[in-house]
Amino acid sequence: MVGHPKTLHDLRRVEAAVQVKCRKCGHVAVLDREEMIASRKHSRSSMEWAAIQHDQICRKPSCVRGDVVVLPLPFGQSMPEVRQRRAMMLAVNLSL
Ligand SMILES: [Zn+2]
Repeated sequence: MVGHPKTLHDLRRVEAAVQVKCRKCGHVAVLDREEMIASRKHSRSSMEWAAIQHDQICRKPSCVRGDVVVLPLPFGQSMPEVRQRRAMMLAVNLSL
């Protein structure tokens, strides 16, 4: 992953979905990128990644806090694979 995208449209190039993880309860939701683009276009909301991050809330009904981490999630990667890759990146960083 090459850092944060600038806009929601950038996710199309890497075929990514949007992952919203709550800092409070740890709940993770994966949102459909195209659905998000369509709904934000409809409501004339910004496609800027900073605005996307700002607008997200925890999807757990009992939580709904705005304190969430929003990340691009490439398709075709199951969660264990993503975690493994992250662990590998950490290992690489540590060996530098
Ligand atoms: Zn939450």
